Amino acid sequence: MSGTPTVAIVGSGPIGSAYARLLLEAFPGARVVMFEAGPQVTERPGQSVRNIVDPDEKARARERSQGPQAGEFRASLGIPAGAVVEGMFTARQGTHLLDFGGEGSAHAASFPAAAAATNVGGQGAHWTCAIPRPAFTEKLGFIPDDEWEDLISTAEGLLHKQSAAFSDSPVGAAIRELLSREFGDELPEGYGVSTLPVAGDPQPDGTMRWAGADTVLGPLLDEGTDTAARFELRDLTLVRRIEHDGAHVRGLVVEDLRTREQTFVEADAVVVAADAFRSPQLLFASGIRPAALGRYLTEHHVVISTVALDGDRMAELVSDDELRSELARRAKNPTDPVAAVNRIPFSEPDHPYSAQIMYAETPPFPLPIDHPAAGNRWGYVNMGYGVRKVPRVEDGATFSDDELDYRGLPNFTIDYALDADEEREIDEATARLRRAGSALGTFIAEPRLLPFGSSLHFMGTMRTGTDPATSVADPYSRVWGFDNLVVGGNALIPTANTMNPTLTSVAIAVRGARRLADQLSAVHSVPHA
Ligand code: FAD
Repeated sequence: MSGTPTVAIVGSGPIGSAYARLLLEAFPGARVVMFEAGPQVTERPGQSVRNIVDPDEKARARERSQGPQAGEFRASLGIPAGAVVEGMFTARQGTHLLDFGGEGSAHAASFPAAAAATNVGGQGAHWTCAIPRPAFTEKLGFIPDDEWEDLISTAEGLLHKQSAAFSDSPVGAAIRELLSREFGDELPEGYGVSTLPVAGDPQPDGTMRWAGADTVLGPLLDEGTDTAARFELRDLTLVRRIEHDGAHVRGLVVEDLRTREQTFVEADAVVVAADAFRSPQLLFASGIRPAALGRYLTEHHVVISTVALDGDRMAELVSDDELRSELARRAKNPTDPVAAVNRIPFSEPDHPYSAQIMYAETPPFPLPIDHPAAGNRWGYVNMGYGVRKVPRVEDGATFSDDELDYRGLPNFTIDYALDADEEREIDEATARLRRAGSALGTFIAEPRLLPFGSSLHFMGTMRTGTDPATSVADPYSRVWGFDNLVVGGNALIPTANTMNPTLTSVAIAVRGARRLADQLSAVHSVPHA
């Protein structure tokens, strides 16, 4: 066969975008059509809404990403009127709960905070942009070390990794120093307190331009480039079904949510990167139901607290002039209060946790004016530990043939429970968080475990592996038994992971995209770059 193959991608988040970029750059003849159920909410498709300076515009972009919880915007997003209960608790800004309580909502009493974003760029338009590398048993055992190094470096390049973001912040450095004094002796060489790598581009004025799917798509969005000419993004277009014969995919049935018109789109290969619940849901809806589909759900549990930094301890390490110039610089972007990001990484055997420590000038919730820590000149730290969950087949989503969700796709119920070891690790992480907070200042929010689902990092439901009985995808992310159906996203992570997963998922996607490009070029007799 010769000619130009078309690859259809479901979902426009960072993972779908990584596939689009890598396939178009590797394969000169290829065309990519990307389908996204949500609207485009930023001028440049898939941009981080954190980069929007105007607060009203930012709030509108977030609300339009909230699918069934998008308030007055719901009707314009093609969401049926009955599909929400007014006044429900909403998820983090830009996201919507899976179990939102209205008609057609998922059932997730044991995983209540689980949420998704429905917009061009997916959750990647709302994320915090932390991109640490996985370590020790968090890594995928079947990928050789030298290949992994190449995959993860390529992923870091796609996401514009900054390993030393805010490293010039004197307050950030003082936080690292105080935490090192507390924990330094207990942590192995190379896994001590350090800056947290983030995705974005530092600007000359000291602010960050945070990365989103637009960063990953890169030249595909630049008018006049060869790859842009071969790339098409259709927003407000819901993929309803993957058409296939049990071993080979022919294309997709898509619905334009503006007109309600359904059409069939032919494709030489399909990549499903529609998040950890909606991707397996689409496979199930299409009659693709491997035993592990939706199962082995993990997240990292989150214990969290907020601390007002201690003036005396900080003043020992930061001069008045340094603080003044730091505050003046941060004032240039008042709607993005994060000013330094630090971490204590996962290490084995003694520190199976990841700590993320964010310094901000304002607390994440309003403090009463007479609170002793209100208006703290040194600022605040929001910090949390990520605690692991061992993958077990019992945890996960069960899809229904009889009940439809608000979009008319098979509805699902999530079951999720911890064992005694997992409970113990949560207790240990909470004790560490107490130590960390006491080392930095005074708690204004005591350490506490967030409801399950709060991490927004859902993994395992389409795990990649070497055994078709316990995984959905092969080691190159192809659904077992199919030659041209690829899956992507955090759902592929098969390990017990304690930290932000997007970098790992992009690295897995790099492997999948390279293999798919090889395969398509062999079938279509077109050499690839
Ligand atoms: P998504 O970004 O979720 O995109 C999937 C897209 O598929 C969605 O836009 C959805 O609308 C679309 N879709 C679903 N079903 C269909 C369908 N049937 N048809 C068409 N389209 C469909 N991760 C980190 O690593 N570090 C962080 O610091 C971090 N912070 C976060 C903070 C917040 C507030 C949030 C919300 C997330 C955070 N994350 C973080 C998670 C990160 O954003 C995700 O890991 C990442 O976006 C996953 O990318 P994805 O492409 O797999 O899926």
